[in-house]
Amino acid sequence: MSDESSRLQREARHLALEQIGERGQARIGAGSALIVGVGGIGCAAAQYLVAAGIGRVVLTDFDTVDVTNLARQVLFGHDDVGKSKVHVAASRLEAQNPACRIKAIDRRLDVDELAEAVAGVDMVLDGSDNFATRFAVSDACVNAGKTLISGAAIRLEGQLAVFGPDYGKSPCYRCLYAEADESLENCAGNGVLGPVPGVIGTLMAVEALKLLAGIDVRTGWLWLFDAASGDVHSVAIERRADCVAFQS
Ligand SMILES: [Zn+2]
Repeated sequence: MSDESSRLQREARHLALEQIGERGQARIGAGSALIVGVGGIGCAAAQYLVAAGIGRVVLTDFDTVDVTNLARQVLFGHDDVGKSKVHVAASRLEAQNPACRIKAIDRRLDVDELAEAVAGVDMVLDGSDNFATRFAVSDACVNAGKTLISGAAIRLEGQLAVFGPDYGKSPCYRCLYAEADESLENCAGNGVLGPVPGVIGTLMAVEALKLLAGIDVRTGWLWLFDAASGDVHSVAIERRADCVAFQS
């Protein structure tokens, strides 16, 4: 089978969709995303984007695989404990779809490196686990005018929001969290139900694919998922005129 006919078969269920079709799938195939944090959220988002035929993915995470990650970070297996997360993930994703170009960055990026990484992609998916990274990623997206798809999960709760790229009119991540709320900080002290970050990462991939394919995406809303009750609701995020991201 030729590469082209193999690709068409692989993408057949997208090509059959009225909202995607050949044009939308071509846009997905030409698209790129930076995924910040290859944890439970980043693993799910990366797998679905690569499976769906995105053209290029950049993964960044300076961590190594820990045994406590394995209950939810589904790109990693028992034999990967101690290895670099981005390199293990890149190898799995390349096997999943060899047509996707994958770049792995296995260190903490400084401001200039982050700006360069953000400028080189169509959009950013942030599934990182700390506010310092989240604020830095948001600022880089505001400066570069790039869409930020932001997700978080803790305990039995998940949340998702899409910001930009029209930051002159719409809110940024800092408008939602003006200051770091350490109680939201990470899974280590609070625990997390394994599939909840998977739900959020999967939804982030949905929004990313919609954006690439040219389907309208609702920005400036915080989408909240409570796995304990099964409730889902969304609240509008106000753009803060005094947000530090907009003062220059
Ligand atoms: Zn803001």
